[in-house]
Amino acid sequence: MIKDKVVIITGASSGIGEATAKLLSSKGAKVVLGARRDDKLKHIVAEIEAGGGHASYRELDVTKQADNDEIVSLAKERFGRVDAIFLNAGIMPNSQLSALKTDDWHQMVDVNIKGVLNGVAAVLPTFTEQKFGHVITTSSVAGLKAYPGGAVYGGTKWFVRDFMEVLRMESALEGTNIRTATIYPAAINTELLGAIRDKATAEAMQKVYDQYGISPERIADIVAFAIDAPADTTINEFTVGPANQP
Ligand code: NDP
Repeated sequence: MIKDKVVIITGASSGIGEATAKLLSSKGAKVVLGARRDDKLKHIVAEIEAGGGHASYRELDVTKQADNDEIVSLAKERFGRVDAIFLNAGIMPNSQLSALKTDDWHQMVDVNIKGVLNGVAAVLPTFTEQKFGHVITTSSVAGLKAYPGGAVYGGTKWFVRDFMEVLRMESALEGTNIRTATIYPAAINTELLGAIRDKATAEAMQKVYDQYGISPERIADIVAFAIDAPADTTINEFTVGPANQP
């Protein structure tokens, strides 16, 4: 059941996060949106509320632990509990290693890895106390299969995979009823490519997305499916992408 579930979504100001917020709220969930561009969040929340949905938002930089803690507090204050958190914020400034774009490497580690750690650290005490919860993350097919230009990005997404599997195992062993779901999208048309500063890499990736990219709503459908599963069932991993992408 999705109706009345309280779901926090990071990276909700565009792409997959925005589509998921809109879909879940249309199915009756109470959504709490976080990202850095709070003007965009304000607009999305207004749209959801105009359609009769329930939503709240907060400026969130996932690299800051305090921001993560505060969005969990906001969800509890506004809606009374947290049923699920979709740790979706991420960046992909890909480049060849030889270009030595080390600032981009570190930023990917900060957002894609530490951002997930910070989100889990923020919500785990609440989930443990409630004795239920659902952690959903956006990894990537880049976390399953290496490709030139994606060394650091793929590494961060591989980390998410491993981390989530251990979270699933430990939650089961501890009997906390915390469910997990890790999603591995392929080419999805969002703002993700906008951060690529390496011209050759940007052009090569744009070609792939122009040829194959599908809508972020397809990933939102998967998040909804995972949340909708019966409480005793974890649907753990999804690889989702364009039907015609090799
Ligand atoms: P978008 O660029 O459209 O969305 C990324 C979101 O992350 C934005 O809402 C952005 O908001 C947010 N974000 C970035 N940095 C931070 C930060 N420091 N703190 C909080 N929020 C942040 O791309 P997608 O929707 O595609 O990306 C969503 C996830 O999906 C990412 O984890 C990405 O790696 C993953 N993914 C995407 C694929 C694709 O083909 N599009 C394929 C595989 C995985 P703001 O800038 O306002 O902070």
